Amino acid sequence: MLDKKIYFDCVSSTQPSPEVLKTYASLLDKYYVNANALYDEGVEIYNLQEKARANIAELLGVKTGEVIFTSGATEGNNAAIKGVAWAAANKKHLITTIYEHSSVYSAFKQLEEHGFSVTYLKPNEKGVITLDEVKKALRDDTALVSIMHVNNEIGTINDIDTIGEYIKKHSNAYFHTDITQSIGKIPVDLKNVDLATFSAHKIHGLKGSGILVKKLNVKMDSLISGGQQEFGLRGGTSNAPADIVLAKTIRLALENMPKHEEVCKELHDYFISRLSEIKGTKINSPDGGLSCLINISTPIKSEVLMNALNLKGIMVSSKSTCGTRSHAPSRVLESIGVDSNYAIRISFDTDNVKEDVDYFIECLKEIIAHYE
Ligand code: PMP
Repeated sequence: MLDKKIYFDCVSSTQPSPEVLKTYASLLDKYYVNANALYDEGVEIYNLQEKARANIAELLGVKTGEVIFTSGATEGNNAAIKGVAWAAANKKHLITTIYEHSSVYSAFKQLEEHGFSVTYLKPNEKGVITLDEVKKALRDDTALVSIMHVNNEIGTINDIDTIGEYIKKHSNAYFHTDITQSIGKIPVDLKNVDLATFSAHKIHGLKGSGILVKKLNVKMDSLISGGQQEFGLRGGTSNAPADIVLAKTIRLALENMPKHEEVCKELHDYFISRLSEIKGTKINSPDGGLSCLINISTPIKSEVLMNALNLKGIMVSSKSTCGTRSHAPSRVLESIGVDSNYAIRISFDTDNVKEDVDYFIECLKEIIAHYE
């Protein structure tokens, strides 16, 4: 047993960076007032929040008025999808994919119950949604297309630029993409995207903090009605200190991206070569996906394996962490023909080293020998 724990669940969440925590603590200490208060302290924190909004807009390549602070991707996804659907006068058709995160998938399921018709696209054998599928599904009355950039269970990458460009040129639908698993890991271009969402805690930021990008042309109703905050689209006293440190979080993640890729690519290739030593294991993540995420199958049931790994100090997931308490099979793995009962997801970050992979492989060998 190692004297440290091995965290192989970095796409589920990450540790906030020391710089983010330090700034957050000092902001919380100094500014407890409401950011909409009209005395000096309120105006100061409001100005800092607006400066953060402008910095985030620049980092994401969008306009300042297009950045909306949220509590994270779940809220952002619900706000974007329901908000656009509610505002779409006579358009009752929506398009998404079968393998979206539950915060997207469930929002569409709910809209179906309220009279919308939804087309669920399936990924191809490489785990990718093709432009052809989008073309075939688009209709004159399509209000919104929502396709994630990177899949959170298998790591496959969709070409949101080409898909977004086609939608813009050939339809009246808006294009939303969930960039929760791509920002800070691969380049994200929002040029052809109308709405985009992510959470800070996936990139060493705070939990309960995130962004919805909504381009100025997009007509959207508010999910959270209330006051004037966030252009009237998200009422409630804002969490200004969290919003302010999100600018730093994003800047650090983007600066760190080349190192993240270099470290994770090396770990990825090493992991795959070492896993090939173990009979009965299989890589489920199709080629060409994220370097930091590998979904595998083993001869051991995933719950049993996860518990056994946990006892050895290794933290992994079996599927999206938002569905861990449900016994339903993974929609994502089913969509590429994988039995999710035997699958686990390993995900790395820059803190991981090859010795972590070595320890994982030794433990996996032991556990398989024990249970077989
Ligand atoms: N979308 C994707 C692709 C995700 O991986 C997650 C987190 N598992 C979410 C949305 C939801 O993020 P949060 O739980 O921070 O709201």
